[in-house]
Amino acid sequence: MQHQRTDTEVWASIDHEARRQEAQLELIASENHASAEVIAAMGTVLTNKYAEGYPGRRYYGGCEYVDEVEVLARDRAKALFGSKFANVQPHSGTQATLGALMALADPGDTVLAMSLDHGGHLSHGHPKNASGIFYRFEHYGVERGDERISMDAVRAKALECRPKVIVAGGSAYPRTIDFAAFAEIAREVGAKLLVDMAHISGLVAADLHPNPVPHADAVSSSTHKTLRGPRAGFVLTNDREVNKRINSAIFPGSQGGPLMHVIAAKAIGFREAASAEFKAYVRAVLDNARILAETLGERGLRIVSGGTDNHLMLVDVSSVGLTGDVAENALHAVDLTCNKNLIPFDEQPPVKASGVRLGTPAITSRGIDADDTRRLGHWIADVLAAPDDASVRARVKGEVAELAAARPIYPNEPAARAIAAARA
Ligand SMILES: *Cc1c(COP(=O)(O)O)cnc(C)c1O
Repeated sequence: MQHQRTDTEVWASIDHEARRQEAQLELIASENHASAEVIAAMGTVLTNKYAEGYPGRRYYGGCEYVDEVEVLARDRAKALFGSKFANVQPHSGTQATLGALMALADPGDTVLAMSLDHGGHLSHGHPKNASGIFYRFEHYGVERGDERISMDAVRAKALECRPKVIVAGGSAYPRTIDFAAFAEIAREVGAKLLVDMAHISGLVAADLHPNPVPHADAVSSSTHKTLRGPRAGFVLTNDREVNKRINSAIFPGSQGGPLMHVIAAKAIGFREAASAEFKAYVRAVLDNARILAETLGERGLRIVSGGTDNHLMLVDVSSVGLTGDVAENALHAVDLTCNKNLIPFDEQPPVKASGVRLGTPAITSRGIDADDTRRLGHWIADVLAAPDDASVRARVKGEVAELAAARPIYPNEPAARAIAAARA
């Protein structure tokens, strides 16, 4: 859509952010670079439309075209993940998880989820999140030895606290999650199973992680992480009654009008994720994650749980005498963006932490390959071995800039052209 840029202040910030994304390499495991088509759908007149309710049952007139969009998004989500029902209205992953919780439990009920400091998520019972305010959360973690979830320990905890809902899924767990084993425990203790696949939904879409849909009563997700859609969420189920409760929990339970422009972008994202190209992309994400973990390990950095099965890893930077905040800042200084992260049984407070979380979804979206990733691993190790060494910093920053310029995210956008021109 043609528009004038009269608001110079806001457009300047947007342009700077576009340049920042092109110039830096994004290693934040929860971020990605959506396609230009996904982004374009969000900047359309669909933002003008009120569509409270669901397709065919709206509280507003004039919904015939947004109905088409929502039905497309719903059908594509169902086909992609093999579910009978889908709700594509959640504004975010947190809203999706909250809606699913509201469908499966009553306020005050006990919910068992992964603890936040072992890789869970704030929507899994943080005391200041609605989940933690309205439900009584109990938590399981990983084991001290192998730093993995022990299904025996989850079972013991479930037998002890008798939850109404068990939640599987997290935001910093680098290993494959056994949904069948979670479902068996849920059945044994009479709990419902909610899988929050926010981080791994792209892997599931590509058939490169087991699909939770056949095992769970409900599956919540974000759309903007490995799935590479717009910033939003959705919920799946195979159970007609649960689906009714999910629909009611999302609208009117916890949201008003749906963001139809974002739902259009979700529909486009689901279509992209069903392609052979997307499957090849996810395979490259996993290869790059394994190569990055191996390279860092060879350079003496301890990888939590000894490696990764998915798109992310936790690097224990105490193994080279650093804290997470220092490592994050040192990498930021060379245009590598990541976040400090608690590691299991961390002795540092969250503001320092002993780890950094690294993920490969975003760098892989801009075409970074196995050889690039190996070099990147060595640059990270070089910086973390000498975080105060200005000459190391200058060299790595130059190498990062060269690689970023060679792998533009949006090659036809002004930000990418400016960076390419500056390096030519
Ligand atoms: C990212 C994430 C979410 C959703 O996050 P939003 O920022 O609300 O979209 C939910 N659960 C888990 C496990 C996550 O990692």
